[in-house]
Formats: sequence, structure tokens, C-alpha cells
Amino acid sequence: MVMAEATVMATFTATTVGTVRSRYEQPTGLFINNEFIASASGKTFVVENPATEEKICDVYEAAEADVDAAVNAAEEAFKSWSAVDPSIRGRCLLKLADLIEENLELLASIESSDNGKPLKLSRIDVGLVANVLRNYGGWADKIFGSVIDTGDTHFSYTKREPLGVCGQIIPWNFPLLMWSWKIGPAVATGNTIVLKTAESTPLSALVASSFVKQAGFPPGVINIVSGYGATGQHISNHMKIKKIAFTGSTATGRHIMRAAATSNLKKVTLELGGKSPNIIFDDADVEKAVEWANTAIYFNSGEVCCAGSRIYVQEKIYDEVLAAFKKRAEQNVLGNPFHEDTFQGPQTSKLQFDRIMSFIEEGKREGATVITGGTRYGDKGYFINPTIFADVTEDMNIVKEEIFGPVVTISKFKTVEEVINLANDSQYGLAAGIHTTNINKAHHVANKLKAGTIWINTYNDFHHQVPFGGFNQSGIGREMGAEALDNYTQVKAIRIAIGKDE
Ligand code: NAD
Repeated sequence: MVMAEATVMATFTATTVGTVRSRYEQPTGLFINNEFIASASGKTFVVENPATEEKICDVYEAAEADVDAAVNAAEEAFKSWSAVDPSIRGRCLLKLADLIEENLELLASIESSDNGKPLKLSRIDVGLVANVLRNYGGWADKIFGSVIDTGDTHFSYTKREPLGVCGQIIPWNFPLLMWSWKIGPAVATGNTIVLKTAESTPLSALVASSFVKQAGFPPGVINIVSGYGATGQHISNHMKIKKIAFTGSTATGRHIMRAAATSNLKKVTLELGGKSPNIIFDDADVEKAVEWANTAIYFNSGEVCCAGSRIYVQEKIYDEVLAAFKKRAEQNVLGNPFHEDTFQGPQTSKLQFDRIMSFIEEGKREGATVITGGTRYGDKGYFINPTIFADVTEDMNIVKEEIFGPVVTISKFKTVEEVINLANDSQYGLAAGIHTTNINKAHHVANKLKAGTIWINTYNDFHHQVPFGGFNQSGIGREMGAEALDNYTQVKAIRIAIGKDE
């Protein structure tokens, strides 16, 4: 890792990223008013590569004064951004999507260095980022109100108006993708934003933000700050922020709701944790179901909020599925994210690695059987072998709590009704998987499951036009699709008396 002296602008540091480009300019400042600036205090924090445990660079940390500066910039920009011809907002998003795509290899390699995900997955993420921005670019001039017939004495109509400055706080598992899910619907509808990246993965969003000015966004529309939970708290407590959108843990989601309640009752949408059931019926295509079960839990090192982390297999095929799944899990290639055949990179941070390892130890102590994995992989980088626990009971913590790593439990069930009850017995309700060749059963079970997304004979299968969000304690509101636009608009009703003018 080469660390160069800071360039003329003190807020840029040159670093190496993977194998794609040996050097590039990494913005390390706060992005406010279309410029990268140092934090007022000059305080920075270290960003690390989780595959090598080496430092990549230092990034400026936003304190309360910096959040205030970003909010003021966004508040000023809102005046004109909310009033402009919406097609101009659309054009900026479309241009930003093009710029992201033109820089796909660079952004993907930054993501892999910072987050640890395999380069081939990062490339997919960056492609999805462009899709999301383009989709919301297309929506910008298609936000309609309605005319309501209330009789001939009045003319009644509604408008959908933006909210104002929106605070957005994102996690570290899909850093750039979450940036796009948040930015797209917010700015398409005329809001301005102050977005905080996660402390362990701030780099890709900073580089992507360097294209914002070129895409034509006026200063202050998109503002990005780096920092820890304290920075997030300044955003969620801020009296000028009208809405907060958060993705992350359920525990932090509670803090954010509390902060919204005790400050200015800002609107809140939350995309939180999950403990999603993945059900394999005895009429399923076993080979395909096992492949999807593998993707469901081990994709992105298991750091996926909707990971299929509780597998339920109908008893007739349980032994067959368990043997095939163990074999499949052991074939997953772990290692350097920049090797083209790597399927699973490291966990994104030491903190997350330690959390997962302590869940694994707890599972062993609770008496579950480790079918495979349960150990660290290698001795450098935060890698964990794909882990399967069998002989579990529903009251075990490894069955109830979100682990957010490559760890899955597998259990047996007899009947359809039994597995519906098992699947729904959770504080969460983000997603669920069903594997069956019986279409009636698929629909029946899909109707009964309490989750925001149901995947049938597939898993982790997102599309930017399809809404995503949680039941129960998995969240409030939906992202992607037309539904996300509702989070960022408020309805104004206008009623005009039109009685005869005599
Ligand atoms: P977290 O919820 O604490 O962090 C997510 C984001 O919230 C980060 O940007 C963080 O800086 C910010 N944040 C933290 N405390 C805050 C506060 N009090 N106010 C405002 N913002 C705050 O998640 P974590 O500690 O990084 O991970 C903990 C667990 O959360 C993981 O083990 C996993 O189970 C879960 N998680 C879920 C998702 C998801 O997509 N649902 C994403 C990341 C983590």
C-alpha cells in the first residue's frame, strides 16, 4: 500500500486500490456545497482494508459544526432545487448514472479494498447503482398529484411536494449501493440531502460524490459527511432536518426514532435487521434449492440484512439437503477479493469479525452441532469459514439473533403449517425464501409469511423497480420502486371554492 503525501488540496490522498489502477485521487474531506473540505476541527479517522488489515488512508470526521454546515448548504439549495423544472433533476441523475458507469472499474476496486467484497460482486453493485440512479432520474418528472371530484362548488386537487433537507445514514455492507438507494428518490423529488457513510467504508461514496458537480447538481443538493455514530446522532437530532432515512441495525434504528421523537418529529424510514427463513419443501429441485441456500447466506460474506440465515428443510429430504449443502458450502472460495475466482471476502471490520466469532462460540456452547466451518480462515484479514449449525432449538440465540455473517442454522420440519409458524416466530420480518415445485403451495406459504419480500425458487434477487423493506422490527417504509418516492414527498390538498360569480 503506497501512501503519498497529501496533494495540493489537503483533503486528497493518493492510495493504491487493488489491481485496477495503481493510483487515484481519493477525496478524504467532507463533501459540502460540491467541494471537498476538511472538517472544522481537522480531526480524521483511519480507514482500513479488511483483507490485509492495513491502513488505506485517513478520512475527515464530521462533528456537530460540520453537520450544521452541511445542513445549511442543503437548506439553501432546497429553495431552488425544489422549485426547478423536475426534468432538470432527472437529467442530473441520468448524467450521474453515466459517470458512475464510466468509472465502474475504479469504483468497484475501491469498494473491494474498503469493504472486502470480491471485485466481481463490487462490479455488480456499481452496475446496480447506475440502474437505481437512472430509474429515479426517469421518475423525476412523473410525480403526480390528483384532481378529486367533490361536486361543482369546489375544485379540489393534490400535489406531492418534497420535504426539505433529508438526513440519510447508511451501513457498510453495500456502501455505494445504499448511497444510491438513498440519494435517488430523495433528490428526484426535489429534496436536498446530508448523507453519512459508515465509518468502516466511507471511500466509494466520496469518490462517487466527486462526479456530482460534473453531473450538473447545484451546490448543496448532495452533501456527504463521514463519521461514527456520534455524527449520525447530530443528523438524527437536527432541528432543520425534516426527514431521516436509516439503514443498519435495529438497535441503532431505535436510537434514531427516539432522536426524531425528541427533536422535531422528523419523518423516519428505517431499513433494519433480519433473521430470514429459507424453506425447502420435499418437492423442491434439491440441487437448485441448495445452490440458492448457499447464495442466500454466504453471498457478500453473509453481511446482508435479508440473508437466509434460518434454513428449514422438510424431513423427508433433510439428510440429503444437509449433505449437499455441506459439500456446497465447502466449495466456496475464500480469499483475496481481487482474485476473479473468489466468492467470499473478509468480514468488513474487526468489530464485525469479533461479533460473528462470539455468536459461533455461543452456538457451540448452546449445544448446536457444527456441520462445517465455525473457525477463522487464515491468519491475516477478517475471514470466517462458511459455517453451518445443525441440531438447533428455536430458543437458541444463533436461531433468534441476526449474526450478519457466514453462519446459518438448519432445522427439520414436518408440515406446511408447522414451517409457517416456525418462519414467522421472529421479531424480524425482512425477507423469506420458499423452494418448491408446487405453485399452489408456493402462493399459500407466500401469503402466510410475515415478511416484506418473499423469494420463490430464488434468493437475494433484487430489482430496482421492486420495493424492499421490512415487516415487524425489520423496518418502516420501503426503498426502491415507486414506493420509495412516497418516503420523500408529502401530499398537499388544495380546495378552491368555485361557486357562481353573480
Ligand atoms: P449500526 O446500525 O450501528 O451502523 C449503521 C450506521 O449507523 C453507521 O453509519 C453508523 O455510524 C450509524 N450509527 C451508529 N450509531 C448511531 C446512532 N446512535 N445514531 C445515528 N447513527 C448511528 O451497525 P453496526 O454497529 O455497524 O453493526 C451492528 C449490527 O447491525 C450488525 O452486526 C448487523 O447485525 C446489523 N447491520 C445491519 C445492516 C442492514 O443492512 N440491515 C447493515 C449493517 C449492520
